[in-house]
Amino acid sequence: MAIVNPRPRILVLANQKGGVGKTTTAINLGTALAAIGERVLIVDLDPQGNASTGLGIDRKNRSISTYDVLVGEKSLSEVIQRTAVPRLDVAPSTLDLLGVELEIASAKNRAYRLRDAIADLPAEEDGYTYILVDCPPSLNLLTINALSAAHAVLVPLQCEFFALEGLSQLLKTVEQVKAALNPRLTIHGIVLTMYDARNNLSGQVVADVRQFMGDKVYDTIIPRNVRVSEAPSYGKPVLLYDLKCVGSQAYLKLASEIIQRERTLRAA
Ligand code: ADP
Ligand code: MG
Repeated sequence: MAIVNPRPRILVLANQKGGVGKTTTAINLGTALAAIGERVLIVDLDPQGNASTGLGIDRKNRSISTYDVLVGEKSLSEVIQRTAVPRLDVAPSTLDLLGVELEIASAKNRAYRLRDAIADLPAEEDGYTYILVDCPPSLNLLTINALSAAHAVLVPLQCEFFALEGLSQLLKTVEQVKAALNPRLTIHGIVLTMYDARNNLSGQVVADVRQFMGDKVYDTIIPRNVRVSEAPSYGKPVLLYDLKCVGSQAYLKLASEIIQRERTLRAA
């Protein structure tokens, strides 16, 4: 019997630390999933809009954004834009998002704005199979909206000395959101980023994180790779910029690992 997937899987990239690879992973994991046939939407919930820029959506082409969706002025499908990657779309963000918290602070469904907007997406034939939400570096109402909408959280951790610092706070927030707002929420996995094989510390961090988080840590580790950091300035995912580089290959591997983990989750 064919497996029918009527609704997209909603995965959220969250970590209240900045610079750990959330946006890079949203862009490149999204591209890799699209490359292997999934229909992917990236929702940019960071006012900085780095995911939107990195996917080639210039600021001047972002008059409407996820801000308009969260305040209830536009539907999600109205703000979605195509990218240069086949099967990959983006709902861009603008700096207006900075004000959203105050604007919807007293609305009763303020934590469910994103969830409801996704539920209202028309289920067209080529509907999304994955929605990846890129969060700001904070556990604010934007991140809470993402977690309330999610099936699962993907946590990028940078291979650096303080990698684990802040992780327990994040896990606690996930537990709180699960208890109060979204009972289906789980941790999908931890992805180690910016691994540097020449640096002993990177290896030690990998060992520590695996000891602490066990098999929640993906086998795939994303190496530090200059091509990955160059790609956004060309408005391209690294897979379009340099498919052969180790960064692109790692994101392809991560995508297949995630699909594999999804199959196991569904079978359970
Ligand atoms: P976050 O969204 O968590 O703030 P970013 O994805 O924006 O983090 O990454 C922070 C910085 O690190 C960016 O300049 C990005 O280009 C760079 N970076 C991320 N991943 C890699 C990598 N694998 N190799 C090299 N540079 C990376
Ligand atoms: Mg970011």
